[in-house]
Amino acid sequence: MSGNEARIQAVQQIVNRTALPPKPPARLESIWAENVFNLSKMQASLPKNVFKSVKKTIVTGEKLDPLVADAVATAMRDWATSKGALYYAHVFYPMTNLSAEKHDGFISVQGDGSVISEFSGKVLVQGEPDGSSFPNGGIRDTFEARGYTGWDVTSPAYIMETDNGATLCIPTVFVSWTGEALDKKVPLLRSIAAMDKAASKVLKLLGHTDVAHVNSSCGAEQEYFLVDSHFASQRPDLLIAGRTLFGKAPAKGQEFDDHYFGAIPERVQVFMQDVEETLYKLGIPAKTRHNEVAPGQFEIAPFFEAANVASDHQQLIMTVLKNTAKKHGFSCLLHEKPFAGINGSGKHVNWSVGNSTQGNLLDPGDSPQDNAQFLVFCGAVIRGVHKYGPLMRAAIATASNDHRLGANEAPPAIMSVYLGTQLEEVFEQIKTGSVTGSKQKGVMDLGVDVLPPLTKDAGDRNRTSPFAFTGNRFEFRAVGSSQSVSGPLIVLNTMLADSLDWIGNRLEVCLSDGMELSVAILTVLKEVMEEHSAVVFGGNGYSEEWHTMAVEERGLANLRTTADALPSLKADYVEDLFTKTGVLTSVELESRFEVYAEQYILSIEVEAKLVVNMVKTIIYPTVVEYLSKLSSTISSLSGLGIDFDKASAQGIADLSKSMMATVDELSAALQKHDFASTEDKMQYCSQTLRPLMDQTRVYADSLEGEIADSFWPLPTYQEMLFIK
Ligand code: ADP
Ligand code: MG
Repeated sequence: MSGNEARIQAVQQIVNRTALPPKPPARLESIWAENVFNLSKMQASLPKNVFKSVKKTIVTGEKLDPLVADAVATAMRDWATSKGALYYAHVFYPMTNLSAEKHDGFISVQGDGSVISEFSGKVLVQGEPDGSSFPNGGIRDTFEARGYTGWDVTSPAYIMETDNGATLCIPTVFVSWTGEALDKKVPLLRSIAAMDKAASKVLKLLGHTDVAHVNSSCGAEQEYFLVDSHFASQRPDLLIAGRTLFGKAPAKGQEFDDHYFGAIPERVQVFMQDVEETLYKLGIPAKTRHNEVAPGQFEIAPFFEAANVASDHQQLIMTVLKNTAKKHGFSCLLHEKPFAGINGSGKHVNWSVGNSTQGNLLDPGDSPQDNAQFLVFCGAVIRGVHKYGPLMRAAIATASNDHRLGANEAPPAIMSVYLGTQLEEVFEQIKTGSVTGSKQKGVMDLGVDVLPPLTKDAGDRNRTSPFAFTGNRFEFRAVGSSQSVSGPLIVLNTMLADSLDWIGNRLEVCLSDGMELSVAILTVLKEVMEEHSAVVFGGNGYSEEWHTMAVEERGLANLRTTADALPSLKADYVEDLFTKTGVLTSVELESRFEVYAEQYILSIEVEAKLVVNMVKTIIYPTVVEYLSKLSSTISSLSGLGIDFDKASAQGIADLSKSMMATVDELSAALQKHDFASTEDKMQYCSQTLRPLMDQTRVYADSLEGEIADSFWPLPTYQEMLFIK
């Protein structure tokens, strides 16, 4: 079957396709967390004292007592086997943004040849996957590739059901035998601990005597595309790179804005319900679903949870989306920019910090005291974004996210904070030292010893800001759709820890100088704003003026590409931040730079090779076939004395020649292997390989517009985006 026949057949198959019959509706209460070994299941199956000890560990994150671990392991195994699981897996989160798992059977062969199922506390708390296949950025040589996984007690174990059976999954940390973090979970837990320490200190200075463990929270909105699997399987670029490397823009894109919040197509809705049911069973509180801006694009958002659990759940959501899509005949694309010229996908990370005694610390509250506390925490965030903007940019730097950032749809690569009109005004007043409250509520002369009342202002939104205050949390909007949320959360928690620590120290000094608390707060916040207000921006982040103003007047960094952003991880002030907060050692930080840089380089190299391949084996042969048909028509017509349009054949031949010349250049460019440094190699990928890929594409897409549709082998944008 030739290429275009396969494509046409795919269209027919899809048009005749119907939605899977929806599952009979389940009652939420009866399926909720059915597959999770959560606190209530532990309470039901463990002796009282054992349960108490585990619960304490979960709240404080302390190490699990070995005797307790044995009892928990037995109860967990009994529960898992009763649900049909014969295997367990330590699930871990390597630096690649993916989840990894190693499966082991409960089976234990006895001396007499019989078998029993066995699962000890030791096995529960420590596993030993072969670490050599996971990137470690030079931390270990492969001959000493031992890595350990250890149960993260704060994230509950669960059963993953697939059509092939059930597996008990245990969320774990992943460390090298020398104790270095090889994953994204260890630093996330450390960043929460560092933030807790600094936040508790500040809360005590603010007069609280009862201060519970401060945790960070996260609710992540996941955007994704669905493409019918008949189409996806005919696009090597979608299969290998997760995005289209070619494809002419359709006549209709998203201009009409008719997709956003439109009616969800039937097949998609059945798919979404299936996803949600699986998530509910896993104790993941899926809450929002809707069509997104681009045709074929959708969003799912769970209710927020503790950052560590939210992060594990986010990884699961991506897995469940992909697996469930397959069952429904879709391919789920999590790539940041699957279709050029069409909106890409992000993952908005909603983030806050709080505890059980003082509540959400980024919530303005009702009394002047609550407002003061809120302003302190908010000021700490502002300082953090200003000091560590390049680090935030590095935390969202991937080859795929580069396609979104800075384009006219996603936030710019410049890190700034959006506060909303009212709050911006209050901080401006704090900076000038004349606090009068918000003008919007009428001018209130409150004097310096009283703090301004604030009201929630959740309606005020700015979609062009990478980092926006949204009423009781910040929304990091620049995160990429395929990323683990751990990286951004680590940075946010760590920079907040640093800022709170600084603020705490300054408050201490002011208070010991005899200043009243409210005056001390205003004094310290004034210092924060004098130093850091350049990062506050409420205007249009897409505009040219902002790009110029941000860089030239405000001194903010505009790190356009991953190649520009990742070296920030090597800056001394970033190393200081991570080492002094205890979140990453210098060795760990260095290894992260190496791993992320390598991922960036590999992604671009793979795509570049694919561009060469697709042009040579799919696009060029199609052009030649069409040209030969066209030229034989031209010559037979001229035999009849009819002068037929030669110019169009010439045009196609010229485009094809240019395309092949660029592809040759790209092939040659891929042969360069000698680079002075990783940084140089990244720049080469961004400055040389990518432009050549883009240029090849320009020619190929023009050819798609010249060649008879019946010849074109690749499913078109129009087909992939509009046929559901
Ligand atoms: P949007 O209007 O931005 O599209 P959504 O309702 O889609 O908002 O998503 C908002 C996300 O923010 C949800 O996951 C929600 O649970 C989360 N969220 C709300 N409050 C907090 C908080 N205090 N900390 C972290 N996330 C929060
Ligand atoms: Mg949303």
